[in-house]
Amino acid sequence: MRKKIVAGNWKMNNDLAETQTLISDLKKSMPATDAEVKIAPTYTSLYPAYEALKENTIEVVAQNMHQAENGAYTGEISAAMLKSVGIKTVILGHSERRAYFGEDDALLAQKVDAAIKNNMDVIFCFGEELEDRKTDKHFNLVESQLKNALFHLDTNAWKHIVLAYEPVWAIGTGETASPEQAQEMHEFIRNTIAAKYSQSLADEVSILYGGSVKPNNAKEIFSKPDVDGGLIGGASLKAEDFVAIVKAI
Ligand code: PGA
Repeated sequence: MRKKIVAGNWKMNNDLAETQTLISDLKKSMPATDAEVKIAPTYTSLYPAYEALKENTIEVVAQNMHQAENGAYTGEISAAMLKSVGIKTVILGHSERRAYFGEDDALLAQKVDAAIKNNMDVIFCFGEELEDRKTDKHFNLVESQLKNALFHLDTNAWKHIVLAYEPVWAIGTGETASPEQAQEMHEFIRNTIAAKYSQSLADEVSILYGGSVKPNNAKEIFSKPDVDGGLIGGASLKAEDFVAIVKAI
């Protein structure tokens, strides 16, 4: 059975004090669940967040990392640095990284390799823009993102990969993909992986949906057979909303 996951991507929100408050609220209200629950605070809060949650089942993950081991890359953070503060999972390929920081599939393939080489898990984000959907290119686009960044991996490496399908037009806009649109794309993604690798590998990969998941729509989206959880932006910044979404899985 593949894992169910709810992950909160805090983006560039919450300073240290706010991080500590939100974590303490989450600790008080998080229900027991079979799902894996993760939060991704910003870099400066990772270690305090890790310390605050190390006896807890909520995992602290990073929002990004650099592909090099170390060296002259001013402002960047390596896999080894993340691991040294207790972080074992990293989000890669978020559409904001792609759009504002020029991260493309080729670079993301390198980042994925660096994470796996360091024995880290990856939540790999991808998804089409509105224009791609309007012009009926969304399946092709999603397929090429998958192939270019992940299909060089061997079967073994896939145990480190969680996918997050995030249609760009649904991120932070309040507009979600309908549960049917999400299911249709998740099924397509799983079939694409099955065709390249095997059905059994495809059946093991958790595919999260991201894009305006809220307490009032989470249950319906999560009820779809190929939707294994969510990557939550805005609604992960309020303990009450995030907990409600975890309860919906
Ligand atoms: P959103 O963000 O839930 O605020 O739409 C999702 C994401 O960017 O991962």
